[in-house]
Formats: sequence, structure tokens, C-alpha cells
Amino acid sequence: MTVTEENYQAELAALRAEYATELPKRLSEIDALWQSLKSGPWSPESLKQLHLQVHRLAGAGTTFGYAEMSQAARGLEKRLIAWLPETERPDAESWHAARARLEALVAAAGAGPGPQSEAAASPRLAPMASRLIYLVEDDLALAEDFRLQLGRFGYTVRVFPSTEGVEAAVAEQRPDAMVLDVMLPEGDLAGPVLLRDMRARLDLDEVPVVFVSARDDFDARLAAIRAGADAYYHKPVDPVFLLDRLEHLTRREADDPFRVLIVDDEAALAEHYALVLRRAGMKATALTDPRHVLEWLSGNDVELLLTDLYMPVCSGMELARLIRQDDRYLSLPIVYLSTEQALELQLKAMSLAGDDFIGKPIDDRHLVAAVSIRARRARELRTLMSQDSLTGLLTHARLKERLEAELARGQRNDSPLALALLDIDHFKEVNDEHGHLAGDRVLKTLANLLRRRIRRSDVVARYGGEEFAVIFNECGEEDALHMLDTIREDFSAIQHGAKEGAFRVTFSAGVAAADADSTVDSLIERADQRLYRAKDAGRNRIVAGTGT
Ligand code: GH3
Ligand code: MG
Ligand code: MG
Repeated sequence: MTVTEENYQAELAALRAEYATELPKRLSEIDALWQSLKSGPWSPESLKQLHLQVHRLAGAGTTFGYAEMSQAARGLEKRLIAWLPETERPDAESWHAARARLEALVAAAGAGPGPQSEAAASPRLAPMASRLIYLVEDDLALAEDFRLQLGRFGYTVRVFPSTEGVEAAVAEQRPDAMVLDVMLPEGDLAGPVLLRDMRARLDLDEVPVVFVSARDDFDARLAAIRAGADAYYHKPVDPVFLLDRLEHLTRREADDPFRVLIVDDEAALAEHYALVLRRAGMKATALTDPRHVLEWLSGNDVELLLTDLYMPVCSGMELARLIRQDDRYLSLPIVYLSTEQALELQLKAMSLAGDDFIGKPIDDRHLVAAVSIRARRARELRTLMSQDSLTGLLTHARLKERLEAELARGQRNDSPLALALLDIDHFKEVNDEHGHLAGDRVLKTLANLLRRRIRRSDVVARYGGEEFAVIFNECGEEDALHMLDTIREDFSAIQHGAKEGAFRVTFSAGVAAADADSTVDSLIERADQRLYRAKDAGRNRIVAGTGT
């Protein structure tokens, strides 16, 4: 799926060449339609055809190096759109103006393509790496505590006891986030001063910065804001809150590429768009025939559909209506690609349907940004709907859906799968003794720990109030038990409540492996029975089928 630089440039060049080769044929088709309109009887059908052809040149020309031709085509398109509702031949003046545009268009096309520069500069997403945090903190005990706590969640923390060496380290390798103290040996506002100075010399736009300070006064907070801080925490800081914020700030969608479907009858253009999006790290597919769209949607988990507005088989809007008739795609975002001229015509209808559009021509970088913004928004919305609000994990209902799917897949491929049900021990007492808020934080901590420690292919959910479930894919009972047991040990070592009155919490779990006749309910039932055996046997332990 990765696109190498060489491949990318070669494919772009091939598309450009293909376009240039086809262009004379298109121009002669346009000319033929024009001639028949001019000398034959007035035909709305021919006009529609002519508009479609001109619209294509307007939309695609710029992408393939014919910016001037595109511009002339847009001017002509505007005229033709004005003619569309007419039943009679337009007056001589209007005809003459349109003709001038057509001549400009043909001349610009004849001049050949201009240089293609923007493609080479189109963005590429950063490769995945483990999460690295720079912590600038002179309280070494605190720094060490943070390093250990964050380390449990898979962060690598590099500690700097003063501002010395920070800038050099940042220049050498950008961290995924920075946590800075405000007061340091160099001064009472040394943290913000350091950040401000680094920003003046280095590009830190992509690096989230969180301040953690004993100072809670206006001046310190203002200095942090002015230096460009993303968050500010007053000490003592609950690591859970800090973690939550860091998780949020360092979340990368590059892990899981956006899945985009492009529908445009202009094959070269559709391919070009797909290529540009793929190169930016997305999974993009181009279809030129709207008749294949439904089939593709049902077999692929598309997150965003980009469609041209004018196509011979059906319009983009008709396609959207067709898609929306299927409940599964009610929330699929559909974005129209269209020239502004054509857009004016449809704008009202579109805003009624709540849909979105991107104007053609669009340069490659703009396309990537426009698509990723929309895809990210759609994805966030989707996760919001299937996520538990406290922990961000899957909800009970979603877990059962996922289990159903994973179980079927496992049975089909004859690969093992194990389910674990976890329940926090004596959680009622945690609430009673430390308050409901402290209880909530324990839930979040366990959720974060599970999320960070299971493999990407595993699934974790909040199954009930203080119950969690984990689906271990392609994993037998023994291995699942092992993985979960180290998590159990680590969880039991975490100090909750930070300062005075720190306390520890444990959980119990039951693990069950699926077999050929397992159903969702039978598997849950088995894991649940084992969970209760673990409780009975004294809690803070895991029971599986083996060895018990
Ligand atoms: P056991 O070891 O047998 O599991 O004991 P327990 O106290 O954990 O079990 P029980 O099921 O009696 O109590 C669960 C408690 O979890 C009761 C409920 O108030 C609490 N709880 C459920 N959901 C939440 C939540 O979202 N936040 C907080 N703070 N507490 C919750
Ligand atoms: Mg319970
Ligand atoms: Mg419990």
C-alpha cells in the first residue's frame, strides 16, 4: 500500500501523458457538438453533452498542467449553464461571448501543459513511532515518578533536570509531546522562556506542550499561554489527568489510514486523486462508474465518499440519494467535487441535504487537507457514538458486535480467539472510602492501561460499570492469560489518589477460549463463570480453563 517516491512520480507522469494524448479527441468532440448546436436545430440534449464535456475540462485541466485551458473552460461552462434552461437558441451576443471562450480554450489546450510543480510537494504523513516525551523538571523524585507512571502506558520519557540541553535534543529529535515545569533553576519563568526561545528557532507546531507547575498565578499561566502551551496543570498533578491529556494530544490517525472512495467519470482525474490521497497515507479507491458504488460500499468499510457532480450515468446527487436509501450508509459523509460554476446551480439543493463540497480544480495539497479534515471529523463522530464517555472504550453493545464478527472470522480461518471478562475488586469500597470521582479515575486508569498494553488487533470494551472485556484475537487461552496477568500485576501496583490517602486497587478476571461451536453468548457465559470462580478464590487473580 505504501507508495514509493519513484512510483508516485512515474504514475503521476503516466496520468499526465494519458490526459495529454486524449485531449485532442475531447476537443474535437466539443467542436462537433458546438457545430451541431450552431448549424443544426436547437437541441437541449446536445447542449447537455457539451456542458458535460466542458465541465470535465474545467475540473481536470489544472490537475494535469492545463491551468489556462481550465480557466477558459470555466468561463465557457458558466455561459452554457445559463443556456441550459433555455428552450431556444440564445441571442447572438451571448453566442458570440461563448464562442470567444471556446476559442481561448482551444488555444490554451494547443499551447500544451505547463510545468507540474505542486505534485512533488504534496505532503506525506510521518511514519509511526513509539511515543516519546521530553520532561523538563528539576524535582527529580517527581520526574522519576512520572517516568515510571508514563512508562507503564508505553511512553518513553526523557528527563531534563534544567533547560540545559533541551533545545539541542528537540532539534535532533522531535518528541511526541513535551511536559515542562514553569520554575526551573534558571528562573521563575524559565519553562515558558525556554519554550518561547525554542519556538523562535525551531518548528514546534506539531509538538503538544503541557506545563506542570507549583505556580498557579496569573503571570505564570499567561507566560505559558504566550509561549504556546496546550495545557497547564497545577501541582500536585494526578498522572491520570496528564495521561488523558497526552493521549488526546498525541493521538495519531496515521495508525489507521482513512478509507476513501472516489467516484468520477473522468478516469484519469479519479486515478490522480486516488494516487494523491494514497501517497498521503490514506486508503483511496477510484471508481469511474457510479453503478459499481453500492457493491464497493457493501464490501469495504468506506469512511468518506468523494463524488463528482456531473456524470453521464447519474448525477452525484442522485448517487447520494441512492446510497442514503440504505440505512447502513446514513452517516457516510458524501462530499461533492465540483467546479464552482456548476456548484452555483446545485448549491441550494446541496445545503438542504446537509452535504458538503470541495471546489474543482483543487491542488494536491489542498485535496489531502480537505479530505483528511472531513474524514477525521467523521471518524470522531463515529467513535463518539460507539464509545463509552468515561473511558473512551467500546460500549457493551459494540463489544458484542465485534465479538460476533471476530468469532466468525476466527472460526472461518481456524485461528484461536480468547475472551476475558474483568471486574474490579471491592470497587464499592473504593467509592465509599475515596468518593465517586476517585472511583471514576480508577476506571480511567484501568482503561488506559488496557488500551496501551493489549495488541493493536485486540479489542477492549467497558462491559459494565466496573467490568471490562478484552477480545484477544489469534491468541489461545494460555497466551491471553499470560498477557492479562502481567497487566493485573502492574495494575495492582499503581498508587491511586496521588498525594495523601493513596490506595491500591486490584481486579479479577475469567478467560475463555473459543472453540468450533462457541457462540457469543456461550463464550461470554464461560468467561463469566470463571470470573466468579476468581472472585470466590480470593480475588486479584485470573481463572482460565487450563490448570484449574
Ligand atoms: P466485587 O469484588 O465482588 O466485584 O465487589 P464490588 O464492590 O466491586 O462489586 P459490586 O458489583 O457490589 O459493586 C460495584 C460498584 O461499582 C457499585 C457501583 O456504584 C460502582 N460503579 C459502577 N459504575 C461506576 C462508575 O461509572 N463510576 C464509579 N465511581 N463507580 C461505579
Ligand atoms: Mg461488578
Ligand atoms: Mg467489582
